[in-house]
Amino acid sequence: MAKVRATEKRIAPIDMSTGDFRRMGYKLVDRLADFMDNIANCKVSIDKTPEQVRGILDAQREVPENGASPTELLTHATDLLLDNSLFNGHPRFWGYITSSPAPIGILGDMLASAINANLGGWQLSPMATEMEAQTVRWIAELLGYPSNCGGILVSGGNMANFLCFLAARVEAAKYNVQAKGLNENPNGPFRVYASKETHTWIQKATDLFGLGTDSIRWIKTDQKQRIDLSALREAVKNDRQNGDIPMMIVGTAGTVSTGAVDPLPELASYCRENKIWFHVDGAYGAFAALADDVDQAIHGLSEADSVAVDPHKWLYAPLEAGCSLVRDPEKLRRAFSYHPPYYHFGEEATNYVDFGMQNSRGFRALKVWLAIQQVGKSGYQRMISEDIRLTREMFRAVENTPELEALTCDLSIMTFRYVPVDLQEKDGDPETEEYLNSLNEELLVRLKRSGELFISNAVINDRFVLRACIVNFRTSQSDVEALPEITVRHGQALDRELRA
Ligand SMILES: *Cc1c(COP(=O)(O)O)cnc(C)c1O
Repeated sequence: MAKVRATEKRIAPIDMSTGDFRRMGYKLVDRLADFMDNIANCKVSIDKTPEQVRGILDAQREVPENGASPTELLTHATDLLLDNSLFNGHPRFWGYITSSPAPIGILGDMLASAINANLGGWQLSPMATEMEAQTVRWIAELLGYPSNCGGILVSGGNMANFLCFLAARVEAAKYNVQAKGLNENPNGPFRVYASKETHTWIQKATDLFGLGTDSIRWIKTDQKQRIDLSALREAVKNDRQNGDIPMMIVGTAGTVSTGAVDPLPELASYCRENKIWFHVDGAYGAFAALADDVDQAIHGLSEADSVAVDPHKWLYAPLEAGCSLVRDPEKLRRAFSYHPPYYHFGEEATNYVDFGMQNSRGFRALKVWLAIQQVGKSGYQRMISEDIRLTREMFRAVENTPELEALTCDLSIMTFRYVPVDLQEKDGDPETEEYLNSLNEELLVRLKRSGELFISNAVINDRFVLRACIVNFRTSQSDVEALPEITVRHGQALDRELRA
């Protein structure tokens, strides 16, 4: 009896024979390799409504009572996604700030899932935790930030900024803000300072963490969309006179709209003199510190109290991968740890549960750890510099096209708009500007629908402008040169229709 029981193996419906696992895995990898081979011939995006996509999915179907063949399911899922997705891995994807995924990262995610390490605690993930710690150090090194900083991988730039924000909140409070919250703040209200070009994470952070969005002091920007230092000083001075507490000053290394880099060295010394936490949002641009030919102000990030970066942007990691760095590791730990400090004896293991918001955590560091070593520092230097160079080439191509107006070009973001020849002299006339705004807005819709390329938009001085951002190791010279022709062709057709 006992012998029989020992050899009994439970058969769970979710399990799979290793033979099936092999066959399905090989087949999936083959399909994905074919997809990558052909990606340049695909449309960048689909032209379908949400209703159509829901129809294709059979979205209203109820949960199936019984199971189905995993081979068929995986094939079906692959078909659905390959036929109905936007491909940011396409060489002509230049929308928002989303990179092509590094192939090694795709495989890394699979490996991470197979080990299924839980990086909340060291014991649950001994090697994985040490690999994450190494990844954090390497990210800091790539940026020129002190590599003995505290850091943690998070889901993206928003979350990376949030963690830094919370570390700054504990630092600024001269009372136990974690216990008392903001209800019992015995001091003045917290204020945070950020330029008008700052990403919306700042609204979410002030809202979510109890300050309220009215605590944001929106500082005006100069001609190049950089924070205006004298306006900043004035705002801080006024608030301090009123008894308010400046909690954090935000500098951005590469704004979302135009890629502007705030004067980070000046911000750093101002913050140091005035004892205010200096945070740099480098979600988009921080890794451009690796490139030679960029605004040297970017190196001011090395002086920040905290930096948020996004490996899923310029390190080309597949989504998701963000990273928070805090100069003093203790200041990060303090904001999240519910272990009393007397549990610290000497060389302790890293338990990431003490360094962020999550409890159970996946191994998102692995894909970054792999990519950094596949290409090395020099590989990233080359790819990021190439993205920047190609953006400038694109800008030049736009400048050389009579019907296109080139506007800004910073890091790897350039903005421009379509202006029909006969309207060029009327540039600035309110009625013309209104027409140009609606023309370019509709043109963007047409371009996306065409699937020939994918760009997004910005609003600069009340003008609706088109915006291309190259964070894409697949983009080449010929792709860049194709942009003016495609834009003008759709622009002309649309202008004719609108004026008919
Ligand atoms: C992308 C970006 C964010 C938000 O990052 P997510 O990864 O999308 O969460 C914040 N700030 C800047 C400057 C960004 O470019």
